[in-house]
Amino acid sequence: MRIGVLAVQGAFIEHRQMLDKLKIDNFEIRQLSDLSGQIDGIILPGGESTVMGRLLKDLNLYEPIYQLIKNHLPVYGTCAGAILLAKTIINDSHTWFQTMNITVRRNAYGRQLGSFKIVAPFKDHGNVPMVFIRAPRIENLGRSVIILSSHDGYATAAREANMLVTSFHPEVTDDLTIHQYFVDMCKENMKKEKLN
Ligand code: GLN
Repeated sequence: MRIGVLAVQGAFIEHRQMLDKLKIDNFEIRQLSDLSGQIDGIILPGGESTVMGRLLKDLNLYEPIYQLIKNHLPVYGTCAGAILLAKTIINDSHTWFQTMNITVRRNAYGRQLGSFKIVAPFKDHGNVPMVFIRAPRIENLGRSVIILSSHDGYATAAREANMLVTSFHPEVTDDLTIHQYFVDMCKENMKKEKLN
């Protein structure tokens, strides 16, 4: 298995370190040629969604990654990465991939008190530490979206088919639960592809 981490901006190194700890082969996606090898999943890290979205377009990475997601490649969007996947962004005139049936509000937890940590249950996997850094709030979910964790009445982790999002950052903790969950999604998909 080989997982690509979008590395044009933001907290990509931390995701690579988590995958290293899980002994999963991983690489950085910086340019088009990085997408030509084996790729079994993509992580869109946290950072600044507007900057990342623009860079995706400028570097001609937007369309090929969009096609991969549409073709059911597992993708995990963390924080800004979740914004990139959202169908609707309430407080932004730009939207990006729009592949996931969620509505998000950027920087919804406030700028001053924007960063905090909680420990909360992640579906069937017990308690997980969750760090929020100027996080988006998931304010609406389509019917095909499954909530995996929530806080204060809002979903903080969700899944729709091949897409996983968290509004929090698991990669700045030492808990591997979320990354293991995503690796399992990639494994399942590889099995499916083999059968087809
Ligand atoms: N505030 C950022 C945005 O709106 C997301 C923050 C993050 O990824 N930690 O793009």
